[in-house]
Amino acid sequence: MKRTIILQAPAKINLGLWVKEKRPDGYHEIETIMQSLTLADSITLHETREPGIHIECRHPGVPPGPGNIAYKAAMAVYERFDLPPGLAISIDKQIPVAAGLAGGSTDAAAVMSGLVRLLGKSLPLPDLMTLGQTIGSDVPFVIKGGLAHGTGRGETLAFFDSPKPPLVVVIAVPKGLEVSTRWAYENYHPGDNARKAARFADILPAFKRRDLATLRQVAFNDLESVTLQRHPEVAHIKDILSSTGQGFVMMSGSGPSVFGLFDDKRAAVAAASKLNRDTVDIFIEHTMRSSAH
Ligand code: ATP
Repeated sequence: MKRTIILQAPAKINLGLWVKEKRPDGYHEIETIMQSLTLADSITLHETREPGIHIECRHPGVPPGPGNIAYKAAMAVYERFDLPPGLAISIDKQIPVAAGLAGGSTDAAAVMSGLVRLLGKSLPLPDLMTLGQTIGSDVPFVIKGGLAHGTGRGETLAFFDSPKPPLVVVIAVPKGLEVSTRWAYENYHPGDNARKAARFADILPAFKRRDLATLRQVAFNDLESVTLQRHPEVAHIKDILSSTGQGFVMMSGSGPSVFGLFDDKRAAVAAASKLNRDTVDIFIEHTMRSSAH
């Protein structure tokens, strides 16, 4: 009998993103703090008799076939075990696409972890993360999930326990707006790195003790300067979500998602209710601890 596995693929936010110098390989050196969310795609893997990898996803912005990052992830696993592919992947897309929430990377990560199990194989977590790195810089983080400090291209990771109890997270995305990560990095002009080191070092400790007031003072995302300038509606969402003065609000990754961290659901709902639901997609979620196997 052919087997089926259903998986959750959680989104992430960047609590800080420091973009440093461009490297000889064309990528920027970065330093970031990443945290998983309960907002997740649902993925079904089904072994098939027909050879090949078939992808089904109803979201118009998500490519079918080999252009889908989940396809590449599955192929990497088959190649790793020297097996011929025979797989149907169904993606129920809940995470906004091209929004700075690692939606594609997390699908890839879930497919890799799930397919290893579906094939009845095992791969130690560090090996799976190394394989994930060949698919994308964010993939190693989302394979393990939780809270991590990332350096290099974001793939060199140190993991930490996420705050307990979890924080409530409002995700706000301007409807229909997608931002290319590549475009944002290409248009970024590095600032004064010397001044940023001390501020960046304070982000992780402040988050771990749920200190939103300190986060408001120290945390920064360098790509905000690029995306907010081109898309003023993102800056407007930040202003509105910050207006109750209770949360910590920032853009995630290259945007255009804006997130707000709040101590409790009441404060989160109060801030989210100020946004215009006709123009902004809103999700109220939680931070999530590592789901690693
Ligand atoms: P990151 O935060 O890692 O920079 P992102 O959340 O900004 O990523 P994605 O949602 O991963 O961006 O989408 C980036 C591009 O990847 C989209 O334009 C989309 O066409 C393509 N893509 C390929 N496969 C997928 C997938 N499974 N889910 C979403 N997008 C995908």
